[in-house]
Amino acid sequence: MPVKNRFAELQDEITAWRRDMHENPEILFETHRTSALVADKLKEFGCDEVVTGIGRTGVVGVIKGKSDTKGKVIGLRADMDALPIHEATGLEYASKTDGAMHACGHDGHTAMLLGAAKYLSETRNFDGTVVVIFQPAEEGGSGGREMCEDGMMERWNIQEVYGMHNWPGHPVGSFSIRPGSFFAATDQFDVTFEGRGGHAAKPQETVDTTVMAAQAVLALQTIAARNADPIDQVVVSVTSFETSSKAFNVIPQTVQIKGTVRTMSKEMRGLAEQRINEICNGVAATFGGTVDVTYIRGYPVMVNSDVQTDFAAEVAKSVSGSCDEAPLVMGGEDFAFMLEERPGAYILVGNGDTAAVHHPEYNFNDEAIPAGCSWWAEIVEQRMPAA
Ligand SMILES: [Zn+2]
Ligand SMILES: [Zn+2]
Repeated sequence: MPVKNRFAELQDEITAWRRDMHENPEILFETHRTSALVADKLKEFGCDEVVTGIGRTGVVGVIKGKSDTKGKVIGLRADMDALPIHEATGLEYASKTDGAMHACGHDGHTAMLLGAAKYLSETRNFDGTVVVIFQPAEEGGSGGREMCEDGMMERWNIQEVYGMHNWPGHPVGSFSIRPGSFFAATDQFDVTFEGRGGHAAKPQETVDTTVMAAQAVLALQTIAARNADPIDQVVVSVTSFETSSKAFNVIPQTVQIKGTVRTMSKEMRGLAEQRINEICNGVAATFGGTVDVTYIRGYPVMVNSDVQTDFAAEVAKSVSGSCDEAPLVMGGEDFAFMLEERPGAYILVGNGDTAAVHHPEYNFNDEAIPAGCSWWAEIVEQRMPAA
């Protein structure tokens, strides 16, 4: 079963929605125009229910099948937010907002799920209920978590959830997926060392925080090199190092370091947090200073459920002829919160040979639309076959 003919017919219309959203990017929870556009379209398609304001600016649409003999409910989720990047594509439909850009293809995700919602509202060729979920603030704002906290899963009795992301470098419209841990947990740390500042020519009268923090930066590398099981994955990157002195002849009173931690399991995540605390406290004590360590847990590990992943891969094969094994991704994904609440699967759809996501020259590939929309529709029709 190749891509659905209906999506070949709808491709120009869906592309026009996508480009309109591309031209009008909105960041984090500020997706007011996009959310209104999504809600208007869902109403126009004849969805049975359209609710705004879930997770602040999130939108939920409900589409009932021709029958409902088993009470089955599937959630399909897309993200709507853009990034604070100045667009450099030179496209005729490039961002009209300075410093905001759809550089992760969420315009494409939203357009494809809208296309699927249009088709599913027209045909309703399934036994059960589909809940289409449009979330804000995927890029670091936990919009997905806020939708869950608003009781979305319980309110609509959602039993399984599915998500999709475009993937540059994979052939356009091809699919790849993996079961289990897929996207990393993304945490941050913020550490301030305090010593005793003073004259740089009299180090013996100071407690030098620069030396202390430099030792800590090196020691933090041993979490990946010496503490982690070599076949497990962990990244610890120090990305900021700032002393309280701006002068060449002053030893600073404090040094602040910041960074990120990426892990693929709860155990590794716990170990990284524990070792950052131990190393920073140990180094500070060794050199006679004190330290304040703040570890901020961000998105959890995104874990695909086995049954739903197998099913999603079979559906992808039915649409595109094959489905590859996806690589582990050390980036984070807010859909992880929805997958913590319900079983489900997240799949990658190839974006062709384009710039990478988050690059100012990136653009979503509209040629992926028929395959992406067909996957959504087939998930519904194959998981809840018409009675
Ligand atoms: Zn992104
Ligand atoms: Zn993204």
